[in-house]
Amino acid sequence: MNSERTHIRTAAAGGGGDRGYRLRLVNIDCMRESVHFNVVMDLTETIADLLPYLAALLPNCTYGHGSGVINVMDGGHIVGIYPERITITDVTGSDQAEALCARYFGLIEQARSGIGSIQPVFQTAPKRSVLELYRELPKTNCGQCGHATCLAFAAALYRGEAARNACPPPSPRRDPGRRRRPARSEPTATLKPAGHPPGR
Ligand code: SF4
Repeated sequence: MNSERTHIRTAAAGGGGDRGYRLRLVNIDCMRESVHFNVVMDLTETIADLLPYLAALLPNCTYGHGSGVINVMDGGHIVGIYPERITITDVTGSDQAEALCARYFGLIEQARSGIGSIQPVFQTAPKRSVLELYRELPKTNCGQCGHATCLAFAAALYRGEAARNACPPPSPRRDPGRRRRPARSEPTATLKPAGHPPGR
């Protein structure tokens, strides 16, 4: 099922006409019964100038000014925000699509109205890989963060679905029965009595 809906909203006071979007639901499996869709939200007005302000409102996004796209993981959906459209992956139906589009349209309007007060972001820090995030974890798989393993937690961090402070710092507990290994002693030199030079 592929479908299209159009949403036009009247601009807020002071705006320049009608703003809105057309929502396209694209069946990515090409099967009638499939529940996997991508959403394409075609905007009626470019948001090129708003991208740095939107980046400021999306703390886990990736954005480099001039790239023309903000990428963000949102609850398992990969979202791409371009000047003329927004794409959202893996949506399960029209209700979810409508809710996500309304949310992102709301964010656009929030960015537009906050231009005087939002500090724009022109470059986000390079996103680290799951493995890089995993390397910084205690690797005890204790489960205190709500994930079964540290690797699962690292993956959730990568997707922006977990906060780093959900993993408590490693406990400094020591095994009391374990004793420190003594430092290796230097080999003892054999002293020969004076008057017997080596080799004689
Ligand atoms: S709380 Fe930290 S150490 Fe424990 S499983 Fe989660 S990430 Fe690993």
